[in-house]
Amino acid sequence: MLKVNDISVHYGVIEAVRKITFEVNQGEIVSLVGANGAGKTTILRTISGLIRPTTGTVEFEGVAIEKVPPQKIVAAGLSQVPEGRHIFPGLTVLENLEMGAFLRKNKEENKKMMKEVFERFPILAERKGQDASTLSGGEQQMLAMGRALMSQPKLLLLDEPSMGLAPIFIKEIFNIIQDIQKQGTTVLLIEQNANMALSIADRGYVLETGKIVLSGTGQELLASEEVQKAYLGG
Ligand code: ATP
Repeated sequence: MLKVNDISVHYGVIEAVRKITFEVNQGEIVSLVGANGAGKTTILRTISGLIRPTTGTVEFEGVAIEKVPPQKIVAAGLSQVPEGRHIFPGLTVLENLEMGAFLRKNKEENKKMMKEVFERFPILAERKGQDASTLSGGEQQMLAMGRALMSQPKLLLLDEPSMGLAPIFIKEIFNIIQDIQKQGTTVLLIEQNANMALSIADRGYVLETGKIVLSGTGQELLASEEVQKAYLGG
């Protein structure tokens, strides 16, 4: 479904991502894990069209998208939940969700999706009239995920959904990610929390200073000595 071929990304003279190749197949959860500054966010932003790679290609369902503007990439079925949520303060929960569907003109379809999002995240229905900035961190993460789901993505990109959340919320968010997969959405998950991210992943990749150093099934990576030592304190 998604093929990232040999991409390198530079910020000025700094090479943040070096010749990275990986893929996500339909129906999978794929986790990309790595420490701070490994290049995870850069890769996601490149896939969603916010940054251009210096070299390499990104293919989504057989179409090259590395030069396509971000709103067209969303329309093609690829939606990103950014690091730090980036909900819109000053807008209600409901208005934030509506923003996720801004590309769609079909009001009936929007209503149907809103209903689905409220079923998945009942807390958002309870808080729908409330200013989004008054939500807790975990609720804001749910709102950001709900907003991305409003566009009915085929592939959902999640950037550090566990960041800053209490363990109980982290567990809940990861359960929801698995539910989203079960209902047919493919997921690419970027995480520093390697343990959680690999435990729900079909496959994963380990990133170090802009390069992929290991790949395998989620279980293989969790069990690998290198991952244990580097990320899991084993
Ligand atoms: P984190 O989890 O801390 O967000 P990350 O793995 O997502 O880390 P990136 O944010 O992709 O890493 O950063 C990769 C490298 O690129 C880092 O060395 C970072 O300092 C650098 N970098 C990121 N954004 C910029 C920018 N706008 N200008 C210059 N350098 C940048």
